Amino acid sequence: MTLSQLARSIAESPTLRLNEEAQDLREKGEPVIHLGIGEPKNKTPIGAVLSAGARLNEGDIKYTPTDGIPSLKKAILRYTEESYDRLVAPENIIVSSGAKQALYNLFYTLLNPQEEVIILAPYWVSYPEMVRMVYGVPVIVTPEDGTFHPRMEDIERKVSTYTRAIVVNSPNNPSGMVFSEDFIGQVVEFCERKKIYLIMDDIYHKLVFDGKTAPPGYRFTRQTPDETYVIVVNGISKLYGMTGFRVGWAVAPRKIVEIMTNVQAQTTSCPSLILQAGAEGALTGMQSIVEGLRLTIQNNRDVTMQELQSFRDVRTPRPEGTFYCLPDFRAYAQDSVELSNFLLRKALVVTIPGSEFGMEGHLRLSYSGTVKDITEGIARIKWALDPESPNEIYIGDRKMVRDWL
Ligand code: PMP
Repeated sequence: MTLSQLARSIAESPTLRLNEEAQDLREKGEPVIHLGIGEPKNKTPIGAVLSAGARLNEGDIKYTPTDGIPSLKKAILRYTEESYDRLVAPENIIVSSGAKQALYNLFYTLLNPQEEVIILAPYWVSYPEMVRMVYGVPVIVTPEDGTFHPRMEDIERKVSTYTRAIVVNSPNNPSGMVFSEDFIGQVVEFCERKKIYLIMDDIYHKLVFDGKTAPPGYRFTRQTPDETYVIVVNGISKLYGMTGFRVGWAVAPRKIVEIMTNVQAQTTSCPSLILQAGAEGALTGMQSIVEGLRLTIQNNRDVTMQELQSFRDVRTPRPEGTFYCLPDFRAYAQDSVELSNFLLRKALVVTIPGSEFGMEGHLRLSYSGTVKDITEGIARIKWALDPESPNEIYIGDRKMVRDWL
């Protein structure tokens, strides 16, 4: 059988694979704790349920305009104005099936084969694969000072005549870092001067802790919405806990949106009407839901940091946003895939290997679940790895004895 070499070279999504593995174990009755996937536990906001339900009840669910229904685009326009103080036109917005599809369409639209996209490590797993899927070249920039905060000098060293875009994700998955105002200002100025697109993946932009905010790229552009090189990708998955609705969007100059719309028209036609109605309900409904979620997650972050302190040799930069942290487990293992598999087998805890995010030796832990899962999950990790911890633990109702340290 001959299959496309490119398609075969695309890595499986590790988060989704580990999710399935955990699900299989759970179905067998195993008490698995999931510190892998980034998915808040809240129920769908009532505004979203009512709005999607009303559309469904009408019983008239057809294709919509490719770039999204006008009322949702209006809600996104208002969201952009309220969140960023940036007025854009409906023609600057395209609604897609998740921020993921918006990003893919964007790379497809911006890149010629062999053109490069700068991706900042630690990075969200999908960026490099998506760039490769459209025959582009991901160029990874790792901060040379050993932190999780990117530096302009490291980026400038990797920019070439082939560079078409830089992706910035702040608050950052997987590190939880919020990038500084100085850095965002510098990268916007650099991109606009060099005519390189700056893709701001803002999917976590309101999940920021301790009274801080994430400096937005828009704050620093002097260009109009049709001339700017700042493109913002956003969605409802994380802020409203609506991952299953699969609605996201991009805000970009209308020439780019036009091409993205053609790309989407020839692939998925449009996001589902019911789910678009749900997204509209979330954006126009009670916004205190986002703040409630943020406070819950901030508390979870505090619990996670507290629990991780019990490891003498694990260093975890304190997350300032998102629901992830990226502790350094190199004191226990160098190979994060092996470590993650070991923890799933021995301790029934799902973690994501740091190598997937360009940070070998680390594990990404998600604290989007319950406090109980966080405390118990980290206790199990400690039991599995740390010889100083008691060698017996209850996992579910089974008493487990550690016999490998
Ligand atoms: N960007 C980042 C940084 C993410 O973490 C995710 C989801 N894990 C996405 C985009 C995709 O979001 P969506 O569910 O809207 O496709």
